[in-house]
Amino acid sequence: HHRIVIVGGGLAAARAAESVRSEGVDASVTVLAAEARPPYERPPLSKGYLLGTDDAASTIPLDAAWYAAHDITLRAGAEATELDTAAHTVRAGGETLAYDQLLLATGASPRRFTGPGGSLTGVYTLRTLHDSTVLRAAIARGGRHVVVIGSGWIGLEVAAAAITYGNTVTVIGHGSIPLEAAVGPVIGEVFAELHRANGVELRMDSGVSAIRGAGHGSGHVDGVVLRTGEVLDADLVVVGIGATPNTTLAAASGITVDNGIVTDAGLRTSAPDVFAAGDVANAYHPVLGRRLRVEHWANADKQGAAAGRALAGVDVEYAEIPYFFTDQFDLGMEYSGYGTLAAGGDLVVRGDLASREFVAFWLRDRHVVAGMNVNVWDVNESVQKLIRAGVRLDPAALADPGVALDSL
Ligand code: FAD
Repeated sequence: HHRIVIVGGGLAAARAAESVRSEGVDASVTVLAAEARPPYERPPLSKGYLLGTDDAASTIPLDAAWYAAHDITLRAGAEATELDTAAHTVRAGGETLAYDQLLLATGASPRRFTGPGGSLTGVYTLRTLHDSTVLRAAIARGGRHVVVIGSGWIGLEVAAAAITYGNTVTVIGHGSIPLEAAVGPVIGEVFAELHRANGVELRMDSGVSAIRGAGHGSGHVDGVVLRTGEVLDADLVVVGIGATPNTTLAAASGITVDNGIVTDAGLRTSAPDVFAAGDVANAYHPVLGRRLRVEHWANADKQGAAAGRALAGVDVEYAEIPYFFTDQFDLGMEYSGYGTLAAGGDLVVRGDLASREFVAFWLRDRHVVAGMNVNVWDVNESVQKLIRAGVRLDPAALADPGVALDSL
């Protein structure tokens, strides 16, 4: 009898379990998830759930009853602690499970502030439902000084939630414009302006040297010390400085790890019968011609599903265009494309940056390599089509809202 084991408790694990079963393979399926709940989705944790408009149940794509109904053993609260790829066994909760095929979908963990004061009470990171519940309790009453370290997507989303609750919010970022590395200075400035217009104070180029406690190196946070020596009052600090892939289990078993678990385009790791997907996977991307690790929801969704097919014995080639979305205040955005190709490319804007209603395209040699729609909907598919087509375009036509994207 065939045994499939999925290690992980995020969306990639859930989608893998779902697609294994829809392939109809005759196998036992076990999901080992370290957190004590069914695999769940994280985007609401810095948006609707943090804001109190979405409940916890809405983060769960497939509930416990679904796993039971599909004859999948869900072991929530069971962390896989040891993987023996030669023996084809994995240990969890004091037991050893044998597998024929195994998926590593262990995700990522937030980077912590490693300077002085990083572990004071009142310093938060945000990754799990529990993190979001605790942070929400801390910001929901309003009237507090919230300092966010990091001006990336999560930092900005938390800033939006915190100010919506009536706190004063300062975001400390690197570089001169938030998100500049991800979307360039022009679009980064759109987000900066959105936050300023909503009362968030942006302190770029400041750098944090320490988080200060009320006592002497202990107790509750009361300030953030900038590299300039200036001290900002802080009742609580949220650290949003990126995430690192959870590779400990894989690395200890001898699987090749390099900025995540290395896989080929078929999501196969260096160990036989072991696959990886989601935030933890650094998978060879056949279109880019190199490996790519994507820390986005849609990647966990689609790559997880592809890994499920691979577990079921199907030969897969994962070649999706990276896709990402965010919601901050009244701005909703979708981005599709190859950020690394877009960096330094030519920016073409269709619509109006100032009113935050536009589609932006990044061109390389007049080919679209990425596109972002802001408060404009139902165009993402057309954007992806343009990227896939890879043809040379007239930038003026691209910028002209009168020219249908699908006609280009
Ligand atoms: P994860 O969601 O990290 O899940 C991995 C799970 O595996 C965890 O539950 C972990 O406990 C478990 N695990 C780890 N090691 C083991 C082990 N040894 N044994 C058993 N279980 C283990 N993306 C977007 O595109 N748009 C957004 O707006 C967006 N917002 C986000 C907001 C927040 C607050 C966060 C944290 C992320 C956001 N993302 C967003 C990113 C998106 O959530 C991730 O890309 C996605 O969660 C990755 O899914 P995953 O299944 O690969 O990993």
